[in-house]
Amino acid sequence: MITVMKFGGTSVGSPEALKRVANIIANTEGEKVAVVSAMSGITNYLVSITDNPVADPEPIIKQFEDKHMMTAEQLFQGEALEAFKQDMEPRMENFRNAVFGDREDPFYKDNLTSQGERFSSLILAHVLKGMGIDSVALTSEEAGIAAEGNPLSGSANLKKTSTGMGIKVKPLLSMNITPIITGFYGANEEGKPLTFGRGGSDYSAAVVANAIDADVLEIWTDVDGFMSADPRIVPGVKKIDEMNFGEAAELAYFGAKVLHPRTIEPVRLKHIPLKVRNSFKPEEPGTLIHHLRKGNNDLLRSVASKTDLSIITISSAEIAYRPAMVGRIIEKIAEADVIIYSISTSLSTVAFLVHNNDVRTTLNKLNGLDVIDRIDVKNNVALICAVGDNLLEKSGVSGDIFSAVKDAGANVEMISEGASDVSLNFVVPMGKVIDVVKTLHAQFIGGVQ
Ligand code: ASP
Ligand code: MG
Repeated sequence: MITVMKFGGTSVGSPEALKRVANIIANTEGEKVAVVSAMSGITNYLVSITDNPVADPEPIIKQFEDKHMMTAEQLFQGEALEAFKQDMEPRMENFRNAVFGDREDPFYKDNLTSQGERFSSLILAHVLKGMGIDSVALTSEEAGIAAEGNPLSGSANLKKTSTGMGIKVKPLLSMNITPIITGFYGANEEGKPLTFGRGGSDYSAAVVANAIDADVLEIWTDVDGFMSADPRIVPGVKKIDEMNFGEAAELAYFGAKVLHPRTIEPVRLKHIPLKVRNSFKPEEPGTLIHHLRKGNNDLLRSVASKTDLSIITISSAEIAYRPAMVGRIIEKIAEADVIIYSISTSLSTVAFLVHNNDVRTTLNKLNGLDVIDRIDVKNNVALICAVGDNLLEKSGVSGDIFSAVKDAGANVEMISEGASDVSLNFVVPMGKVIDVVKTLHAQFIGGVQ
């Protein structure tokens, strides 16, 4: 039995939290691997350093060192503290080199912002050693996590990672050693750190689980699991005990901040069940995500929403007959790295849903296209994502949902039904989000109002 466990920034954010996490690891049976984020606040600090260069970075280096040393001093004494300091030294050296590195290097930011994980993993490994558990801190390079892609938005190369970890990590497991691996980044083709995007440690853990064929992936965070709606909007939300990969992927992408959306794919590929657990309440079972089919009587499992979006509608005669043109429009928008949340087409229009902040960039990109007759923009709309398994198979579901939306007094501005069989996504004015989410929750999920 191999368990991969991921601990986020708050879970490793203080000496007490680190002890709690070490106990969770100690109480887990079988072979285990931990993947960790940087201590909370550290990555933001590193990002601010990369964005605001200073003439003399020494005080910054000192502050970074102090933060980790102070944590270590509360956890280790005597020889244990000395042993930690010895391991910390080469990491500090590496950190210093990252700070003073070549700012022109396209991977400069990746190298610097990925430094925090190297320290949190080291501290945790030493806490475990202090408890008599054979443990070793490994950087992503040492563990064999292979990354590819552009700076700050890398992806793992699953095949290479599997080969690398087979050589570097698997033998440790058979020797009963628990590796503590840095999340957030992998090594690119040149061996340089390449990060997976902010919040990417969840994804790292899923990649590790995939690479070593784990039996389960546990994402330990600071909430009880996925909820049936945002508790700030709906007071009587329920925790979701179980759902399938598709539902979790939609929810993670469209609203719930529980899990990084990219976490699902690497484990889904190998049918590895994923559990979301609360490291502050280890007795709680959390949410189990797996290949569940049916088994849920509620029409909907959860209602998520994403606000501050805009609909950009492009009119052009008979656009439906000219798919190459739609392709060109999408290509233009994609060039600017704008995320398109939804697309819908009619005979002479194609509409895109993007973030309010991306409207200007999108319009600039579309400027040069002569085939466009008109562009309309509707700001401040929200996307509602109603998630439930096999929605398409349940007859009349969308009719029921839209009639509930009408009950909430909202107009549906755009629909992307049918693209997924686990979610019904549609757009309403932002001022109506709370009413719509509350009404859908009350009618299709239930719970206290
Ligand atoms: N420490 C990184 C971040 O804050 C990665 C993570 O936390 O998942 O973005
Ligand atoms: Mg973090």
